[in-house]
Amino acid sequence: MKVVLIGLGQAGGKLTQALASYDYEMGFDAIRDALAVNTAEADLQPLDIDTMLIGQDRVKGHGVGGDNELGAEIMQSAATEVLDGLDGRITSQAEGIFVVAGLGGGTGSGGAPVLAKELKRIYDVPVYVLGILPGRSEGSIYQANAGRSLKTVAREADATLLIDNDAWQSADESVEEGFETINQQIAQRVGLLLASGEVIDGVGESVVDSSEVINTLRPGGIAALGYASAKASEDSAENINTITSLARNALLTGTSLPNAVKAETALLVIAGQPERISRKGVERARSWLEDETGSLEVRGGDFPLESDRLAALVLLGGVERSNRLQAFLDRAAEAYEQATEQQAEPAATFQNDELEDLF
Ligand code: GDP
Repeated sequence: MKVVLIGLGQAGGKLTQALASYDYEMGFDAIRDALAVNTAEADLQPLDIDTMLIGQDRVKGHGVGGDNELGAEIMQSAATEVLDGLDGRITSQAEGIFVVAGLGGGTGSGGAPVLAKELKRIYDVPVYVLGILPGRSEGSIYQANAGRSLKTVAREADATLLIDNDAWQSADESVEEGFETINQQIAQRVGLLLASGEVIDGVGESVVDSSEVINTLRPGGIAALGYASAKASEDSAENINTITSLARNALLTGTSLPNAVKAETALLVIAGQPERISRKGVERARSWLEDETGSLEVRGGDFPLESDRLAALVLLGGVERSNRLQAFLDRAAEAYEQATEQQAEPAATFQNDELEDLF
């Protein structure tokens, strides 16, 4: 799937760079262009991809702190400038646009829903958000910010692919220490998803098409991505169980949004050497996925790739009713309530246990 990435804020910029590098190193060419946008000059400096500093008149290149309302305002004022900067990058070849952002901060959190809305006004291709949820150990301001951002982003984007910072972390690292590792995991897994349907060197029996990714994301709302890989035999007949357990692990333990199992749609991509992919295994894995997700729309396909391993990617569309998401929203609402009580600002209204939209 040919996409253009726009990274907002610190996390958004770093992740966009990690995704672009992975895609380049693998020679996939799914990522056609990438731009990092930020209000903090220092966060743009280390990046190798093209960058754009916005909001100098308001924050003089120093960022918005954790103020996502200011992040949203600045993006609104800079919308024309950012869209002009994207002109010529989002060509007719692009099949989708991804806005990448950490939802718990300020610039990305506030900017992502605004930019998604502006992009949708102009472009016909789907506009997705790749959003990072703060881990459980992150402070309440992150939780509250992410809650409001997510609510607004889910309204504006065609779909929001969520990655929980706790999900793909190594056990022995704190969230901060683990950012590099997590970013690599995200780059590889999301990178493979985007590339499936692009690279058809050793033509498989049923290769994935970009439209299958787009159709899986069509229910809108929240999407999640699961991943698992394992060494595989050279003989496909010996890989039936490998494939079924890969699909199981991808959904049950390797997902970007833990406990997101029920979904409206799903896509199962098996990546690896075509000779190692067992059709029987794929069929069994697909029907298991249908039962487990409760989805009547489970798509599937192969992604031919030179490796002695096989990997399963499971993309879920329409997972908003997951327990994990509900638990996050409850936590975010509580954090937001506490924050607004402490500030006692009359403008910060919070009604009926619900998070307030950012705009
Ligand atoms: P912004 O620059 O104001 O948009 O704020 P940040 O991008 O720093 O957003 C803060 C949120 O993003 C927090 O929830 C952090 O845990 C998360 N975050 C910051 N940097 C990274 C990173 O490199 N990788 C990941 N996965 N998350 C990050």
